[in-house]
Amino acid sequence: MTDCSYHMTPGQFREEGKKLIDWIADYYEQIEEYPVLSRVKPGEIRKQLPPQAPEKAEPFDKMLQDVDRLIMPGITHWQSPNFFAYFQSNNSGPSVLGDLLSSGLGVQGMLWATSPACTELESHVMDWIVDLMGLPDHFKTTSSGGGVIQDTASSAALAALLSAREKKTDFMCNQTGDTSRLTAYISTQTHSSVEKGVKIMGIGTDRLRKIDVDDTFAMSPQALENQIIGDIQNGYIPFFVCATIGTTSSNAIDPVRLIGEICKKYGIWLHVDSAMAGTAFVCPEYRHYSDGLELADSYAFNPHKWMFTNFDCDCFFVADKSVLIRTLSILPEYLKNEATEKGAVIDYRDWHVQLGRRFRALKLWFVIRHYGTEGLRYHIGEHLRLARLFAEWVNESSAFELLSKPPFNLVCFRHKKGNASNKLLMDTLNQSGKIFLTHTVLDGTFWLRMSIGQTQTREEHVEKAWKLINATSDSIRE
Ligand code: PLP
Repeated sequence: MTDCSYHMTPGQFREEGKKLIDWIADYYEQIEEYPVLSRVKPGEIRKQLPPQAPEKAEPFDKMLQDVDRLIMPGITHWQSPNFFAYFQSNNSGPSVLGDLLSSGLGVQGMLWATSPACTELESHVMDWIVDLMGLPDHFKTTSSGGGVIQDTASSAALAALLSAREKKTDFMCNQTGDTSRLTAYISTQTHSSVEKGVKIMGIGTDRLRKIDVDDTFAMSPQALENQIIGDIQNGYIPFFVCATIGTTSSNAIDPVRLIGEICKKYGIWLHVDSAMAGTAFVCPEYRHYSDGLELADSYAFNPHKWMFTNFDCDCFFVADKSVLIRTLSILPEYLKNEATEKGAVIDYRDWHVQLGRRFRALKLWFVIRHYGTEGLRYHIGEHLRLARLFAEWVNESSAFELLSKPPFNLVCFRHKKGNASNKLLMDTLNQSGKIFLTHTVLDGTFWLRMSIGQTQTREEHVEKAWKLINATSDSIRE
């Protein structure tokens, strides 16, 4: 026997852990001093790393020094209040601590039996969210449906696609693998993750119909129905439609009720993706944008975008959990246990693609309890107010124009000078390191996207950004 051990002792963990928490707290205090967008060139980080893994153990302090020296220059600061790019991937103190606790417990919650609290807290928090966001009651686990935390909206869309396929084929596709006549429907503005899901499930993008949008970039229900009718006449089997509340490019809102009625008429699964905008429904005055959601078979939004919960955390709800479970359930001998066999519990491994799962409900539970409904409404409401304010400034300016009044927290705007000027303006702003924003192209026109949703973003940051945008635009000579 040898008592040799390279493991970190609980005492060392306590000591180093405190240093790391201090390091993160210092980082948050100093975050605005970093350039928001990392300035390193491709390969620059990697070439500084040793070619081989170390033979000898190294002290934790040295690792933290290397984080400062090697890693920080290659970080784009998503948690900076001056981050207005893409859609946010924000976090908060309670969320980081919840995630740390999840790592500390190191639970793998594939079955109820592998840690009952992991499953039961998740079901409970997901039911809370149904009330918190004013979602249809049948999304509750205590009803016909239920919620599960998926890693991403992409995985949620894949689970929805697979369930839709099985429901439409009386659970035969899982056996025969014959998907040859199935057709799926999205709009030209739907997030690419749904197209990816279609590729993964073997439907083939030839049978993915991209429906036209109207002048607000929302899916045209008439065009959808015409396409469905045409496909049925040609012997195809429409099985899945995805509607979006808050598209990625411009936050367009598909008419969920009208699309839902079409889906009911033709027996098609409706998935609603509200990955970013879904968080706005914590504010009751925004819930009219989810009108018709009770017609959806599945729904997803990402607290890991805007609801102060760090990546990864997607809330996926289904109206009828039996379809999802029947689609994904598989019970090998080595996973059999009494609780599962009695059917008395939820085994979340049957609710998504992978088997193993982290205890993600902890961070969501901590966030909801830390802020309370009141706190969430206040901060999300502030972001929404700041987006309206920014849009007003754009509207009042003679140099810039708005795409449309922002329904949520994304403002699409542009300088009136044209595409090349706007691209140059965006690149110059991002190179300044003071803010970071990204773009989209709609009908050939380049639009700047100002997404206001970082946890710490306040009016002063938005005002500073607007002044910087104006000053930079004035200073650019083309
Ligand atoms: N759906 C929409 C509307 C999105 O904007 C995004 C990402 O920005 C996604 C889906 C994909 O999100 P995830 O990274 O969680 O898969």
